[in-house]
Amino acid sequence: MVRQTIDTIIIGGGLSGLYAAWLLTQKNMPFVILEARGRMGGRILTAEHHGFFPDLGPSWYWPEINPKMMQLIQTLGLKGYRQFEQGKGRFETSNGLVQTVRGYSTEPVSWRLTRGMTGLITTLMEKIPHGSIRLDSPVCEIEKKKNHVLVNVGEPEEMPKAQFRAPRVILALPPRLAAATILFTPDLSHNLTQAMLRMGTWMAGQAKFYALYPEACWRQTGLSGQAFSQRGPLGEIHDGSNRDQVPFGLTGFLNIPAAQRNDEKAITRAILTQLAAIYGPSAAQPTQFYYQDWAKEKYTATQFDQPSNEHPLYQPPAGQTAIWDGMVQMAGSETADQHGGYLEGALASAARAVANA
Ligand SMILES: Cc1cc2nc3c(=O)[nH]c(=O)nc-3n(C[C@H](O)[C@H](O)[C@H](O)COP(=O)(O)OP(=O)(O)OC[C@H]3O[C@@H](n4cnc5c(N)ncnc54)[C@H](O)[C@@H]3O)c2cc1C
Repeated sequence: MVRQTIDTIIIGGGLSGLYAAWLLTQKNMPFVILEARGRMGGRILTAEHHGFFPDLGPSWYWPEINPKMMQLIQTLGLKGYRQFEQGKGRFETSNGLVQTVRGYSTEPVSWRLTRGMTGLITTLMEKIPHGSIRLDSPVCEIEKKKNHVLVNVGEPEEMPKAQFRAPRVILALPPRLAAATILFTPDLSHNLTQAMLRMGTWMAGQAKFYALYPEACWRQTGLSGQAFSQRGPLGEIHDGSNRDQVPFGLTGFLNIPAAQRNDEKAITRAILTQLAAIYGPSAAQPTQFYYQDWAKEKYTATQFDQPSNEHPLYQPPAGQTAIWDGMVQMAGSETADQHGGYLEGALASAARAVANA
């Protein structure tokens, strides 16, 4: 069994864990990142299609209200472009009637990263010490000892695959997921556990689609690509094109409950039929199509996570940003007291956890 002692253990290699790692690197503090999946990025997931990068997780940032994101994007030398929103919108009623409606600009204005959100992840990874990331390392147990914390990697109820010890741990994953899947010894208080379980993971119950085309047929008829539907399977659609060249794209979210999204082929067929009804027949023939169901990702969602249009008011669970006398600091976007659930919140929570560690 692998055993390692280190200054800081970061659990989770999403944006908050990786940003915390970069901040520690700047302070010359050694750390290891334990990431459950075989890839970094967590909810940031971007495909690639001939040099275009469709985001299957987050795609927007909001320069007017995201100062930390803006600073990071600038420091990492990444470029962005404004979400296309010119033209009229479409609205589909529950019985399938499609109407053209007034288009609108999002307020504050939404931007996308030119090479996809994954640019944040790949560029940050280049800036931390080689060998500090351990993929395929799901943490199953965290145990408090007198002056350090033991972190076991492996599947619950089995012999750990690896064990790490450190005086400090940064827990950089959604609180609900941590409370539902990691054994804490000694037990966390009842209040804290309940507060963590109640805190829905933002977008964890969602599924997202992305369709790419050689031409933007909707723009040619004066449509912005924005659409809302009461019928589904898509509830919300946007233009997801490359800045101003091929490929053009439509992207958006499903509005059916996670438990009813079992037949991916049937859902895909229904999405293409719906796109044709809203934008015309050529919308049913994308050159490339992506479908990502986040509710099926065991390192993002639990059975409690469902699609929701309401953004919860996030704050540290039970008012706590740390446990066990500060030995375990909580990061993860949902623990931020501002912009919780968003990329900006992931950065803010990581900065707070590193400052307090
Ligand atoms: C479809 C979708 C669209 C979104 N759109 C936007 C948007 O447009 N703008 C925006 O600002 N935000 C958006 N978000 C939210 C945004 O993605 C998150 O705020 C952000 O990525 C959270 O980062 P995080 O590091 O806090 O958490 P996560 O990205 O969830 O990272 C947690 C990490 O911990 C790992 N992990 C889990 N369990 C364990 C374990 N036991 N041991 C070790 N590792 C573990 C996971 O694999 C993951 O890598 C969207 C999210 C989704 C899913």
